[in-house]
Amino acid sequence: MRTIVFSSKSYDKEFLTEANSNAGHEMVFVDVPADPQTVVLARGFEAACVFVNDELNSKVLNALHQEGIKMIALRCAGFNNVDLKAAHQLGIKVARVPAYSPNAVAEHAVALILTLNRKTHKAYNRVREQNFSLERLTGFDLFKKTVGVVGTGKIGQAFCSIMLGFGCKVLAFDKYPSQKMKDLGVEYVEMDQLLEQSDIISLHCPLTPETHHMINADTLAKMKPNVMLINTSRGKLINTQEVYNALKKQKIGYLGIDVYESEENLFFSDLSEMVVRDRLIARLTTFPNVLITAHQAFFTQEALTEISQTTIANLTAFQNGEALVNEVTLDMIK
Ligand code: NAD
Repeated sequence: MRTIVFSSKSYDKEFLTEANSNAGHEMVFVDVPADPQTVVLARGFEAACVFVNDELNSKVLNALHQEGIKMIALRCAGFNNVDLKAAHQLGIKVARVPAYSPNAVAEHAVALILTLNRKTHKAYNRVREQNFSLERLTGFDLFKKTVGVVGTGKIGQAFCSIMLGFGCKVLAFDKYPSQKMKDLGVEYVEMDQLLEQSDIISLHCPLTPETHHMINADTLAKMKPNVMLINTSRGKLINTQEVYNALKKQKIGYLGIDVYESEENLFFSDLSEMVVRDRLIARLTTFPNVLITAHQAFFTQEALTEISQTTIANLTAFQNGEALVNEVTLDMIK
């Protein structure tokens, strides 16, 4: 099937080409995102393959439809960037990669925690400059600390297991508690209790109208002083301005984020020779207790392989008129 791959990077091309070697789809890779200016590139294609920051609102979807696009193949799990109602009305099918490597994201959340806590990023730079001082590198034991996990789906569960392995007490909030997690020793509590008792809070729920800005001035006020806040899920779960205010007041002790509210204008690009106009992220990068990575939690060999293979399988299923097992349907946003 003729497929245009928007927002593609060298690694997308490498892994998708490999996964496509026996499937035979005709894939054209473009580095621009799908937006009102670039949709014209989709002319003559049947499918558009997109990533997390391709904003497929109704305007873009209408334009893609006019160019002949019948299917959207998301090469990610989240689908908050697609106007599903508009896609449904236009008869455009949407498929995703529901799970690729939950461990990749969970392990990255742990990497953020360990780096913020033990300051290995600072130690690395110090030692390279022959500064062997330990001043201001003090961390804390994770053993017996309380970790609050918001959302215990695939990634949240992998994260809970790792933190239990550290000897942490793990509290969780999810509308659908997992018996498997309970059996492992995770304690499900109400959100307020999680906020009040956790030393570390890690977000693993999807972005929905309900979870948008779930971390805000009100919820921040309920947290322990000096709490560590980790977000590897979606940037808009956090009201970043209010988190910034809490950092300034030293209410939050540490912030580790792999996702950012306005990341679509920043992440996945080398802007090192440009003036970054986003004042909030510019200020956040000056905090010694803030660690930002640019949406790389998923970025492992295993995850890229799985993402590519599932994306190609989704395209093939659609082309052959087979059941689209990874379809994103309207009832998933109800
Ligand atoms: P999942 O669907 O397996 O689990 C999500 C869990 O969140 C479910 O158990 C659900 O019941 C729960 N949930 C929904 N609404 C909630 C709420 N209001 N409060 C608490 N819990 C709620 O999803 P997953 O595979 O674990 O992925 C979680 C999220 O991680 C994705 O939605 C995506 O946004 C993000 N993600 C980030 C990266 C990255 O590279 N940073 C990669 C993959 C996924």
